[in-house]
Amino acid sequence: MDERRAQLAKNLASVEERIAGACQAAGRPRAEVTLIAVTKTYPASDVRILSELGVEHVAENRDQDAAAKAAECQDLPLSWHFVGQLQTNKARSVVRYADYVHSVDRLRLVNALSAAAVQTGREEADRQLGCLLQVALDTEVGAAGAGATRQRGARGGVAPEGVEALAAAVAGAPGLRLDGVMMVAPLAGRYAGRPRAAFERLAEISACLRSAHPAATMVSAGMSADLEDAVAAGATHLRIGSAVLGVRSPLG
Ligand SMILES: *Cc1c(COP(=O)(O)O)cnc(C)c1O
Repeated sequence: MDERRAQLAKNLASVEERIAGACQAAGRPRAEVTLIAVTKTYPASDVRILSELGVEHVAENRDQDAAAKAAECQDLPLSWHFVGQLQTNKARSVVRYADYVHSVDRLRLVNALSAAAVQTGREEADRQLGCLLQVALDTEVGAAGAGATRQRGARGGVAPEGVEALAAAVAGAPGLRLDGVMMVAPLAGRYAGRPRAAFERLAEISACLRSAHPAATMVSAGMSADLEDAVAAGATHLRIGSAVLGVRSPLG
């Protein structure tokens, strides 16, 4: 355990150095950027160590694992972020432990999360579920020919032109709070291999969203491989897995 703690401390320090460097290069205060450690596939004991090392935000992408880990770590001062594709039948479970869901991408999910949040007594302002709209750019025209325009990638996400309507739905849904936008750098389409450009597009979408919903300031972008691009483009939240916890097995 001591060995694991030393490893995690070392990884955290080097990620912190990267974030600080990226902030400095972008002329942004370090305090504008929040690190979320993505603990998926790793045990609750790692979550505990990270908390002891000062991490305040953790993320998971599968409800079953997340529910168990959150229960084991109930005593820790952590915010829990759900960042994976979410089926509507998991909404009731997720609202029990999640403070934020980053993967809100369709009206049916908004309705399911809202109903579950209300049922769980999360209607008051300070208990509402924070919702980020996951935006997908690989659905944009020119992605893989016009025929693919409407096709949603396996990783989900709403197309930019759908953001406004989905935002209005979240803003009007009891138990939910509209907090911002999220993106995973596209693997296909004209933004493939161009995370900086993709995150800059996300920043534009965020600015547009904030003109109607000023409190929706979160911009969740950037993972282990592209955190510098995300910071440069204005991200407020980085979701970092492997650079902190180690490389996951391919099944993770
Ligand atoms: C796994 C995951 C991450 C972290 O990815 P790393 O490359 O390990 O940093 C971030 N966001 C989402 C949505 C993920 O599923």
